[in-house]
Amino acid sequence: MCQRQVSAHLHIKYIKETGSWYTIVSTGCGDKIEMAQDVWCCGSCNRIVLFPDNRYKVIVVASDETGAIELLLGDLQIRTLLGIRDVQLLQQSTEEEDFPLVFKSVTKQKYTVKLLIKEINVVNKATIYWVTNICKSFIDPNSHL
Ligand SMILES: [Zn+2]
Repeated sequence: MCQRQVSAHLHIKYIKETGSWYTIVSTGCGDKIEMAQDVWCCGSCNRIVLFPDNRYKVIVVASDETGAIELLLGDLQIRTLLGIRDVQLLQQSTEEEDFPLVFKSVTKQKYTVKLLIKEINVVNKATIYWVTNICKSFIDPNSHL
């Protein structure tokens, strides 16, 4: 696969509140699981999952002087940015499509972002990028990331 990593200084403008902001996953294998007869069942592990994990995923719109792009923030990046535990997050919102207000706290700020440029970005001109590392404010990426 053809991809490379680049660092960028970006402003996060806003959160794209489309789709869901988390996935319920199996603690055994990490696969997405579904509720069946009031219990969480993992088809891959073939067992009931009593305390499933949550994986966060949001898309944000970020920009620099050259234009705007969309960034896909994964579980690790969101936990790093928000610095709070999932219990607190889930207490704020129980609906998958109801975005917790705390997400707004990451907008209107400056970030140093390490993102992946994949083949799809080059060949298909996709403007969404996978973030592999993010931290607040503009820093020299070579020394900190
Ligand atoms: Zn599983």
